Amino acid sequence: MNNTPMLPALTGITRDELGTHLQENGQPGYRADQILDWVWKKRPAGIEQMSNLPKALREHLQGHFSLYPLIPARDLGASDTTRKMLYKLHDGRYIESVLIPANPALYGGRADRLTLCVSSQVGCAYGCKFCASGLNGFTRNLSAAEIAAQVLQTEMLAGDRIDNLVFMGMGEPLANMKNLLQAIELITSPWGLNLGARHLTISTSGLVPQIRELARHPRQIRLAISLHGATDEVRNQIMPVNKKFPTAMLFDALHDWNSNKKQHLTLEYILIEGINDDLEQARILAKHALALKAKVNLIPYNTVAGLPWRRPALSHCQAFRNVLTKAGVTATLRLEKGHDIEAACGQLRLIQETADGLIQ
Ligand code: SAH
Ligand code: SF4
Repeated sequence: MNNTPMLPALTGITRDELGTHLQENGQPGYRADQILDWVWKKRPAGIEQMSNLPKALREHLQGHFSLYPLIPARDLGASDTTRKMLYKLHDGRYIESVLIPANPALYGGRADRLTLCVSSQVGCAYGCKFCASGLNGFTRNLSAAEIAAQVLQTEMLAGDRIDNLVFMGMGEPLANMKNLLQAIELITSPWGLNLGARHLTISTSGLVPQIRELARHPRQIRLAISLHGATDEVRNQIMPVNKKFPTAMLFDALHDWNSNKKQHLTLEYILIEGINDDLEQARILAKHALALKAKVNLIPYNTVAGLPWRRPALSHCQAFRNVLTKAGVTATLRLEKGHDIEAACGQLRLIQETADGLIQ
């Protein structure tokens, strides 16, 4: 594996940090805004193209920073309208971001909007029994520069503006809190990507202390919970995180979230045959969803090679949804081909490079 050390990328630095750096190096403060305008708005191929900066400053920047941290490695247009972007990191690892020109009504978007599913870590330490991302364990956190650059560089490749972000790629974003918070600043600030916080949805398997911390974040970001079981009995079987943060603690934290945030919560619920699809689970789920004023997003399980789980029959998925809707819960069931966007995200796994090419 290639371990070339890399200079910190300009996509990871905040306006204040850049201002301080420039001041310490005898540069006027307004240069920070000029540089950030290049990075986030004008998007040049290299630092040398930042034409309104003096040559000495460009050389200084080149000695201290790189511009973009991700190397585009593959752009896979799927048979449907989703596109998987594969990026190589400076240490030779790979991550994927999934571009979905779908109707993300669930996350507050409009029909003609582009959603990007971003990764927050290489691998995942949480080991949910159904998930491809955790199969090979945890490798490392992504830096804020790497998280934010997935949006910037995908916009550059796609030649289009991304409207919504879901943190549903590889990794547990709340286990990488410091970098996640910095990335949120880079993505939502006017000097950065300038994307409204309401267009960001952070998904978590249920890390209670971090949910409480994020509830106090000043921006109106959205939260999705990968619930996948309405009781401890069911959740314990498939999500080891539930042993540490059982459902009672989790629901308490979600009520706390609601008292701090305006946007409705989303409860994600994968339907896995014989594991969590009993209609009794639907009845309990309905009670919690109503109490939390949360929407429920039902996702029929997508097969992962090497794992034994299967999705229930369509009629059973619909029966499960009907229990929720009859109870008054807003519930969607993703069945149409090409619309299983969370599945695309949930199926990301570690990619390794071999002499023969990439293996997944
Ligand atoms: N770690 C965070 C963020 C990743 S989100 C979290 O778990 O919320 C990835 C989403 O895809 C999660 O809701 C996850 O439960 C779901 N997922 C994982 N494997 C899946 C599969 N095989 N089919 C459908 N969804 C899956
Ligand atoms: Fe990690 Fe989320 Fe997959 Fe669980 S579902 S292993 S927390 S990425």
